[in-house]
Order: sequence, then C-alpha cells, then structure tokens
Amino acid sequence: APRIGVLALQGDFREHIASLTELGADVVPLRRPEEIDTLDGVVIPGGESSVMDKLSRAFGVADPLTAAIRAGLPTYGTCAGMIMLSARITDGIAGQHTLDVLDTTVRRNAFGNQNDSFEIDIPMPDLGGDPVHAVFIRAPVVEQHGDDVHVLGALPDGQVVAVQQGNVIASAFHPEVAGEDRFHRRFLDVVRSA
Ligand code: GLN
Repeated sequence: APRIGVLALQGDFREHIASLTELGADVVPLRRPEEIDTLDGVVIPGGESSVMDKLSRAFGVADPLTAAIRAGLPTYGTCAGMIMLSARITDGIAGQHTLDVLDTTVRRNAFGNQNDSFEIDIPMPDLGGDPVHAVFIRAPVVEQHGDDVHVLGALPDGQVVAVQQGNVIASAFHPEVAGEDRFHRRFLDVVRSA
C-alpha cells in the first residue's frame, strides 16, 4: 500500500487520515522533517493556514516539504492546505509564507460573513459520475493561475475552487468531511503512477 503522510500540526488531519485509510493507504501523521523521505505522497489538511504555516516552519518541515513536492512528491491540499500550496496569497496575514508549489493566487476567506460556510453540488467532469458535493468552510478561491494549472472545478459564477498542476491537487472545499472520496482516489492514482 502507498505510504501517505498527512501533515498533522493543526487542522482536520484526522478526517484525512480516516478517508485515506478507508481507501487502503498506509497513513501516518507527518510532524517531523525526517519523515518526509519515507512517504509516497502527502496531504495538507484544512484548518488555519497562518497557524499551519508558522508551525510547519517552527517544526522545520516547510522547506523540506517544498523541496520534496517540487521534486515530484504527489500532494493534495484542502482549504487551508490549498492556501499552503499556493505560490501567492492576496490577503495573507503579515509575514505569512506558503510552500509555493502551485502556480496559483488564492484569496483567503473569500466568501465573507453569512456565506462563510456553505455547501453546493459542483459538476466536475474529470472526476466522473455525479456532481461533487462541496463543503466550504471559510474557504479560499483561486483568483489567478498559470497555464500549467488545470481547473477541476468552479462555482456557477466561474470562481475556481479545485485545481491540479502535475502531481499537486488542491480543493478549496473539504471532501474529507463530506463522504466524498473521489479527490482522495484521484490523489492515490497520482501516487501510484508517480
Ligand atoms: N480560512 C482558513 C485559512 O485561511 C481556511 C479554512 C479551512 O481550512 N476550512 O487558512
């Protein structure tokens, strides 16, 4: 079974561990830099990206993770995880860094106040079958992306909320809390073909 590390410093890493375990992966919590080399893939969970950023730098995992992902380590990030992967943030807190492995510009907390949490079904032809039931919780959107970034899903108004660039997949919403396993399956397919 592929060995998957879920960054477990902050956020909903337990839900990702459960989703991936259900799909037969050998899942471990990732907290220390020396664990990265043992992995076939990595997941960055939802949570609070500014806190995850600070902890990942304090624990010394940020730089080695960036190097490993740039070298091809398959990666999936949800919500705060999407922000962590993105090259640019339009409204990060002062001094907020990212892993800078996805050629995207994201806006944090893009849906303000009464819309800050919502659920919507989004057709995503790349994933096949029924529309994806997408759960958004203080979610970001992708405001801009490079030509190498493939859009997997967008809201009816066109705002991009799921992307893939090579071995890196990111969604602004949380399949891990919605019983939606097609993103994790797609990620594991990338892991197997890497
Ligand atoms: N708003 C959070 C952030 O900026 C993300 C929220 C989430 O992961 N559900 O990191």
